[in-house]
Amino acid sequence: MAKDLDWANLPFGYMETTKSFVANYKNGAWDEGTLTSNHSITISECAGVLQYAQTCFEGLKAYTTADGKIVTFRPDLNADRMKDSCERLEMPVFPKDRWIKAVIDTIKANIEWVPPFGSGATLYIRPYMFGSSAVIGVKPADEYQFRILVTPVGPYFKGGVKPITVRLSDLDRAAPHGTGDIKAGLNYAMSLYNIVDAHKKGFAENMYTDPATHTYIEETGGANILFVTKDGKLVTPKSNSILPSITRRSLVQVARDYLHMEVEERQVNKNELKDFVEVGLCGTAAVISPIGCIDDHGTKINVPSGMDEIGPVLKKLRETLTGIQMGEIKAPEGWVYEIK
Ligand SMILES: *Cc1c(COP(=O)(O)O)cnc(C)c1O
Repeated sequence: MAKDLDWANLPFGYMETTKSFVANYKNGAWDEGTLTSNHSITISECAGVLQYAQTCFEGLKAYTTADGKIVTFRPDLNADRMKDSCERLEMPVFPKDRWIKAVIDTIKANIEWVPPFGSGATLYIRPYMFGSSAVIGVKPADEYQFRILVTPVGPYFKGGVKPITVRLSDLDRAAPHGTGDIKAGLNYAMSLYNIVDAHKKGFAENMYTDPATHTYIEETGGANILFVTKDGKLVTPKSNSILPSITRRSLVQVARDYLHMEVEERQVNKNELKDFVEVGLCGTAAVISPIGCIDDHGTKINVPSGMDEIGPVLKKLRETLTGIQMGEIKAPEGWVYEIK
């Protein structure tokens, strides 16, 4: 039985729930891990995460489907992506089968926190890992902690999907040949100044260009980008400093296989922005968030789909993916993991 919360009005924020998962890596091996009701962590003042930001994370959701099942979406891809993040940050990989089982066990231990179908709310799942032992010379820590916390979050759009205004950013999110393609905490630390500044100036997000030449569109601080051309093609930027969004990869497959659209994954020059008829951001939190206006240093690029509602192509894409997630449309094999 779900908790009696005001699901529709929950913010996107943290709330302590029943259990978190914790595993420790020591002397070259992971322990078996356990569920804990201790939601605080005590570590050395000199821990690798505190001194040299040795940490990475993932984000996925559990939710209740139309027929009352509790499920999660493609956790295997989150496990794979966290492996890539760990390898790049010299952290020990938590084995994939155990990773997925730990996510499922953590959802099961917090089942009453999974919002009911139709509430628009979801249970957000945050797996993360950090260097827990002391380091003072610059090197990887010897010990690590892998944790999974869950927290219920409200609908991303309260009162309907609304287009946002973004600005083209002068600052970079990632370095060329850097860490833009992994989910490292350090990428977010770098983006905070710029997002606070964007919000102060009335923009919802920063749209970043490629860090080497500032010519091609990459992504925003926390979401990949989708474009729709006049002739109905879906275009999404290709670059090795973009974080490989699972939502974007799923939407590309949905566009091809369910909506029979042509999809181009390629470099997108910023001069092309004015030619697209629909633009949107995609990620786990919002699925697709439409963009109505892009500000290029004071010049407004008004997207033809406008500021009132999501355009028809992105709307159809969004509804198809959420329909698949919610069990209303048949999912491709292996996308939806049933918990209960
Ligand atoms: C997590 C993240 C995304 C979205 O990825 P999903 O797997 O779709 O949630 C996009 N960009 C960045 C920089 C991210 O960190």
